Amino acid sequence: MAEGDSIARLAARLDAVTAGSTITACDVRHPRFATADLTGQRIVGWVPRGKHLLMRTDAAVTVHSHLRMSGRWTVLGAGRRLPRAVAARLRIGLRLDDDRTLAGIDLPVLTLVRTAGEHQVVGHLGPDLLGGSTATDEGLARAAARVVAAGAQPVVAALLDQRRVAGLGNMWAQELLFLHGIDPWRPASATDPLALLADARRRLRHAVEIDPSQSTTGRRSPRHWVYGRAGRPCLRCAAPVAFTAAARTPHGRETWWCPGCQR
Ligand SMILES: [Zn+2]
Repeated sequence: MAEGDSIARLAARLDAVTAGSTITACDVRHPRFATADLTGQRIVGWVPRGKHLLMRTDAAVTVHSHLRMSGRWTVLGAGRRLPRAVAARLRIGLRLDDDRTLAGIDLPVLTLVRTAGEHQVVGHLGPDLLGGSTATDEGLARAAARVVAAGAQPVVAALLDQRRVAGLGNMWAQELLFLHGIDPWRPASATDPLALLADARRRLRHAVEIDPSQSTTGRRSPRHWVYGRAGRPCLRCAAPVAFTAAARTPHGRETWWCPGCQR
């Protein structure tokens, strides 16, 4: 799942395999950037910002992408080419100087900006749970205050609003609310999300550095307490897990919770 921890892992992997490579051919399939040409530029590195990915070059250009549900980045070995059906969904293809190909496929968000202008694409993000701004207790308290400031909005919507705090996707938000016994529909202003965010920070770091499984139960199956378990018995109290479809929530995301455990 493309949550902050998965993006941080992807950035680290892409950084390890492509940083230092020079781009020898460039194919951008985006109406706004179709004429962009990164040929001759060297990839300096990859940086995650919440759920956004930034690839920087030595010409001070940044390729900004967001995977949402469908997008992916892949590196093809020397001389290998994408299968035709996949190539049709290519959004950006970069040939590297060792004849490998770096391909961004099905990217719903793709922007090229000057590196000095990255704030245009990620400046709206709140404190990043995997970044330096939340590494201290004070930083985390500021992030918690931004969640509470969502007022009457459901706390689940506030946690998913990347402008308040960056890095949580739907799975982590649902599971953390369960683990902390918080009803997702409770107004954000009536919660104290500090302990939840501290736990989120710890779990995201653990997922980046040690175990990418994103299991919150600590088990292989079921991996989650409520996420994706509509109507099934709660693993703690056996009450059926409640569910609201995305279209019926104010924040447009599927929502699961246990009415017994989350008050
Ligand atoms: Zn329960």
